[in-house]
Amino acid sequence: MRLRYQLTRQGKTEAKDYRVPITWTPCHLGGNRPWFLCPCCGRRVAKLYSSTLFACRHCLRLNYRSQQANKRDRPCDRSWDLRRALGCDEGFLSLPAEYITKPKGMHWRTFERKVEQLRRVDARALGAAQAMLGTIERKVNTARAALARC
Ligand SMILES: [Zn+2]
Repeated sequence: MRLRYQLTRQGKTEAKDYRVPITWTPCHLGGNRPWFLCPCCGRRVAKLYSSTLFACRHCLRLNYRSQQANKRDRPCDRSWDLRRALGCDEGFLSLPAEYITKPKGMHWRTFERKVEQLRRVDARALGAAQAMLGTIERKVNTARAALARC
């Protein structure tokens, strides 16, 4: 495929003219499907996004939904770190912060502050876990609906 267009930025017009190779791969259920080869990096991709050049999401550093999902995991990691510091080896799903016992040698005020901090982190971790479950549930439902159509 050949792309030809004009780009106007800050009053300057630039003519773009380049090729985007297309490759084909066989489909599971027969036939072939086309892919673009990203003009920047050569990756085989289903979609190109427009910027000054059309390129793949890696080249344009676009955030993907799965990467945002990874961000949601962070309170969970934080919860584990705080729990380890409190000598607790159970996660927020099995042991609420208020049931953690004070490690020997730790001051009560320090302990209470850490537990309070953990309760806030756990609340966010729980929210993230629920959001992730919602995503999984939607994907399962979509897959189930697709299977039912076969
Ligand atoms: Zn690329």
